[in-house]
Amino acid sequence: MPERVANGSTEGVSDVGEVLVGADELSRRVRELGEEISRDYAGRPLLLIGVLKGAVFFLSDLMRYIDIPVEVDFMAVASYGSATDSSGVVRILKDLDTPIEGRDVLIVEDIVDSGLTLQYLLRNLGSRNPSTLEVCALLTKPERRKVSLPTKYVGFEIPDRFVIGYGLDYAERHRNLPFVAVLER
Ligand code: 5GP
Repeated sequence: MPERVANGSTEGVSDVGEVLVGADELSRRVRELGEEISRDYAGRPLLLIGVLKGAVFFLSDLMRYIDIPVEVDFMAVASYGSATDSSGVVRILKDLDTPIEGRDVLIVEDIVDSGLTLQYLLRNLGSRNPSTLEVCALLTKPERRKVSLPTKYVGFEIPDRFVIGYGLDYAERHRNLPFVAVLER
């Protein structure tokens, strides 16, 4: 079950606002997800597909807690829309290096907001006939969801705020924060 996040303390510097998920909470939950995935996919070689760039931190930490045979590939997509709202019109900037037909595939996403980007990815990758196709998202904002999607693994449910850190950016900044915080605007 995803965890609901309580309000954290305020980091009063620049545009880094309230911390929603601290570094310790992140590593504890990522470890749990890795262990759960290892149990669920035991005996089935797994392919993780990381969605660049935001999922890179999450994916590399998650992989360390997966103790079954696992491979990794990456996709980069651009979602048209404003800086903070995606439109659902998605363009592939970098496609996978390998075919996924007949494979057990797990998409690793940083955050599911409206769900439109993930809906596109599920359709696109689904049409390549993987054996199974599931989603592991670190964060989800249920209040913002426009489409209902099968997200098998979710780290944390967060409120409708624009967040930065642990891979998530605002104008390419703040990905390196070791926690997830609200963008102060
Ligand atoms: P969706 O298509 O679900 O609306 O948006 C998905 C993508 O929008 C995410 O993969 C992420 O790149 C971006 N996004 C959505 N919400 C946030 C947020 O709160 N912070 C950041 N940095 N990016 C977000």
